[in-house]
Amino acid sequence: MNESVLGPGPAVAAVDIGGTAIKLTVVDSDGRPGPVLRIPTPRAEPEQVAHAVLRSAADGLRTLAGSAAVTAVGIGAPGVVDDEGHAVFSENLGWRDVPLARLAGDQLALPVTVVHDVRAAGEAERRLGAGRGLTDVAVVAVGTGIASAVFLGGAAHTAGGYAGEIGHAVVRPGGEPCACGNRGCLEATASSAALARRYTARTGTPVSGSADVLRRARQGDPVAVELWDDAVDALALGLSHVAALLAPEAIIVGGGLAQAGDDLFIPLQRRLNDYHRLRPVPLLPARLGEDAGVLGAALAARDAGGRA
Ligand SMILES: [Zn+2]
Repeated sequence: MNESVLGPGPAVAAVDIGGTAIKLTVVDSDGRPGPVLRIPTPRAEPEQVAHAVLRSAADGLRTLAGSAAVTAVGIGAPGVVDDEGHAVFSENLGWRDVPLARLAGDQLALPVTVVHDVRAAGEAERRLGAGRGLTDVAVVAVGTGIASAVFLGGAAHTAGGYAGEIGHAVVRPGGEPCACGNRGCLEATASSAALARRYTARTGTPVSGSADVLRRARQGDPVAVELWDDAVDALALGLSHVAALLAPEAIIVGGGLAQAGDDLFIPLQRRLNDYHRLRPVPLLPARLGEDAGVLGAALAARDAGGRA
């Protein structure tokens, strides 16, 4: 992670809360992130899940922090997170209206900044990864779900936590049902989970995710080829609207599906250029990998300290 050094500043702890794992790290005063600790996300009733998650995070941070004088904590959380650090809603964790920043501040006894996990990862990619030097950029995470972080003039555009939800833009009217209640959303068509679900629905064969579907497509499985092609097309259509509306310097694509490399990026760029002809927008693969979220949480903690 040598390219992901944050630079001199206060030592901070960072937490990235995911549906299956919580990632934690401590960034020292030179800005060097330590090892990333992964602990399974605890299962609990919806009203207890935030407490269980924060207890696990506190235990993990005690293990990690050692003698480092941590002065603040940044937390990346999934779902919708408002600008006050309220976790408004998460389908994945089952929480609603959780005052996460306040609860975490009580639990950890340090100043806490809570940001949306995709925005945190996007901020890290923009400042430390593929987007270095860019000011107008969208960072799209294509994994189990699809969401994005939008930066205009170097600042995040959040709309109170609701901006960037490109996964719930309809690209196939009347298509696959989506967790949001609509049909034909990008996320229900082209996410890694959607690809696996659609493949299994067509063939009766369970698959583990988009990597498995792509492997079958490479071997000439016609259903896998058709679904992969449809997912690439749906993504290109969705991204073409981002390109038309924002005219960004680049769109950075990360998340599990982006691991497909040229099999994704070459046809996706070609299709995007077909859909959006005004001024081609380059697609860039995310560079920080799965630790982008926790690095972004550290950046958020650093930034909040600077504002205080
Ligand atoms: Zn949806």
